[in-house]
Amino acid sequence: MNPNKFPSKRAQIYKDIPEEQWNDWRWQLSHRLNSTADFEGVINLTESEKHALDASELFRVDITPYFASLIDPDDPLDPVRRQVLPTDAEISTFTGMMEDSLAEDAHSPVPGLVHRYPDRALMLVTTQCASYCRYCTRGRIVGDPTATFSRSEIDAQIEYLQRTPQIRDVLLSGGDPLVLAPKVLKEILTCLHEIPHIEIVRIGSRVPVFMPMRVTDDLCDMLREFHPLWLNIHVNHPNEITQELAEACAKLADAGIPLGNQSVLLAGINDCVHIQRKLVQDLVRMRVRPYYLYICDLVEGAGHFRTPVSKGIEIIEGLRGHTSGFAVPTFVVDAPGGGGKIPVMPNYLISSSDHKVVLRNYEGFISTYEEPQDYHVHDPNTCNFCQSKRQEKGQSGVLGLLEGESMDIKPEGYDSMHMREGEAHRLRADNHKWKALGIGNKEDSSE
Ligand SMILES: *Cc1c(COP(=O)(O)O)cnc(C)c1O
Repeated sequence: MNPNKFPSKRAQIYKDIPEEQWNDWRWQLSHRLNSTADFEGVINLTESEKHALDASELFRVDITPYFASLIDPDDPLDPVRRQVLPTDAEISTFTGMMEDSLAEDAHSPVPGLVHRYPDRALMLVTTQCASYCRYCTRGRIVGDPTATFSRSEIDAQIEYLQRTPQIRDVLLSGGDPLVLAPKVLKEILTCLHEIPHIEIVRIGSRVPVFMPMRVTDDLCDMLREFHPLWLNIHVNHPNEITQELAEACAKLADAGIPLGNQSVLLAGINDCVHIQRKLVQDLVRMRVRPYYLYICDLVEGAGHFRTPVSKGIEIIEGLRGHTSGFAVPTFVVDAPGGGGKIPVMPNYLISSSDHKVVLRNYEGFISTYEEPQDYHVHDPNTCNFCQSKRQEKGQSGVLGLLEGESMDIKPEGYDSMHMREGEAHRLRADNHKWKALGIGNKEDSSE
């Protein structure tokens, strides 16, 4: 085993703070840095940072003393610093910028609950975080204590989940669920645990990264009551991986909580194959599995963090095959306008014929896979799992095409546009002649 411990850092100015205070998450929260004066002696601010800190239109700035200690005080381009300290660049606009780029508000049946996918929903339980990421996709609401979710809104979210049996997976996010008062978090988890159709709960939290001391034995003992519980943290750069974070992850993992990591691809911070490779390798040493790598969303203030999509493809090219398979995240573009996460990766399938596929590996070795000539097609009529599959109206998507549920997916207005104002005639009126003839749909094939 690699005996090297991860580093542990404390800014000079905090050297005399007693261990007991430093390791108290309440002390960390109440000593967060947010004004120009606060940073004195901790980080040497640039003019651009000072200006941005004084600008009122930006969303809240807050940095825990622990996280601020990971920053090189003299390097304006420090990768940790750029994630949490605003600069003038945050004030500029760019083509494609949106307030709610994922159209989450439009997919919310009740405030704070986003139900986009058939079997799972995202529950925003607070707008508060331990520190604020400048590229936040929810910059429109986070940090604003007046915009946080009330008890009655959380109750309305829970009622929606109770009456929506197709939801089997609930993600708690925000804001950061782990900054909630422990009692409130426990109440929410208890309510979810009592809903019979909810099979798993996930928490998305950057608290272990901003404030690892929050991961106390008490917190882990509380969380372990709610298995199966999964937790995703958010680390973007190897400099965020410290001995304290490693210990927090060890406690969570020892409490039986599977850990994942979601990172955001950020220009000038982690847009490098070698930084990403070190990041994922350090994560798996802490028993954290890299889950998603997101393209930066088209949100206000995040323009200077954006990279081309191809940068993400290059990073996956540099990870897959080059390092442990379970250390490779899925690179996703969360579709602007609300389409959800769309995976993007290099092409490995080079060509194919009716009996062979041609594939290439990470080294450029090109191989062939001879396909079977006597494959017995899977018969949905005799498969119990096919018979009992949950029917999701309208969300079967491309799989629905494969399964013969429909022949095509058309843009809105497609049929009327192609009528070219022509009259309805029996030769064109009738859709039935295009009804699938044995393309896998049970009803069709028996007709
Ligand atoms: C990301 C997300 C989920 C979860 O997606 P997975 O791919 O299952 O991790 C669910 N709902 C919303 C709205 C999301 O943005």
